[in-house]
Amino acid sequence: MKVEIKVSSNCNLCGLCVETCPTNVFQIVNKKLTVNEESCIYCRGCEAICPQKAIKLEALDEGLEITITQTLTTLITPLK
Ligand code: SF4
Ligand code: SF4
Repeated sequence: MKVEIKVSSNCNLCGLCVETCPTNVFQIVNKKLTVNEESCIYCRGCEAICPQKAIKLEALDEGLEITITQTLTTLITPLK
């Protein structure tokens, strides 16, 4: 899944997102928060834990919706 991660200027570098993210998307390097969006699995833990509400996530993968629709169609078709 492709996820766009935006961190606002409210970030105070507390490091909670760095500790929380299971796939190490965040790192603090030279007093800056770096973000590796490619590794994000969209668990949304960082968004929930950020005390500054500085993280905004947006899932960009339209393929997920197609997969869900196809799965529903597959499940519903035999019932017709
Ligand atoms: S949890 Fe929020 S405030 Fe803390 S470092 Fe991450 S983005 Fe910044
Ligand atoms: S949504 Fe989950 S995987 Fe993605 S950056 Fe946040 S904590 Fe890491």
